[in-house]
Amino acid sequence: MSLFDNPDEHYMRLALGEARAAFDEEEIPVGAVIVCDGQVIARAHNNTERLNDPTAHAEMLAFTAAANRLGAKYLTDCTLFVTLEPCVMCAGAAGWTQVGRIVYGACDPKRGFERVGRAMLHPKTRVEGGLLAAESEALLKAFFQSRRSPGAARLADNEGPAQPTQQETIQQTT
Ligand SMILES: [Zn+2]
Repeated sequence: MSLFDNPDEHYMRLALGEARAAFDEEEIPVGAVIVCDGQVIARAHNNTERLNDPTAHAEMLAFTAAANRLGAKYLTDCTLFVTLEPCVMCAGAAGWTQVGRIVYGACDPKRGFERVGRAMLHPKTRVEGGLLAAESEALLKAFFQSRRSPGAARLADNEGPAQPTQQETIQQTT
């Protein structure tokens, strides 16, 4: 996949890379990148555990980084790529940044902003959902499964078949 075939997918894959970094740090795996004029100006992942800050969502950290990078508080010409539908807090923050476009991956029926509506966004902000949603969902599912059974705390490699767990290996060899 080259950048020129499908730029949105390319940037969403970068966001998924951030989500994987969160997974590896035992954070809920959500990643975000902000792109301006074809350049990635911010990338971040959920950091609520490490920072001990319930507001340290990927989007919040990315908005702050992007504004710092641009030296401006409005992100009118930018696109936010985020692996999970933003929550109400992050959508509210997106409204304050006036970000031009939001592209998200998986839907979040419980905590996502769409349940409430789009009034909190800037009227000119365009929204698209569902890009590479399956990959984002798989990552989130693996994370919550690993929390329920710590022995299975591993991330299935997208590129190949999952390795058997230790227990499975033992069962196979006996
Ligand atoms: Zn959020």
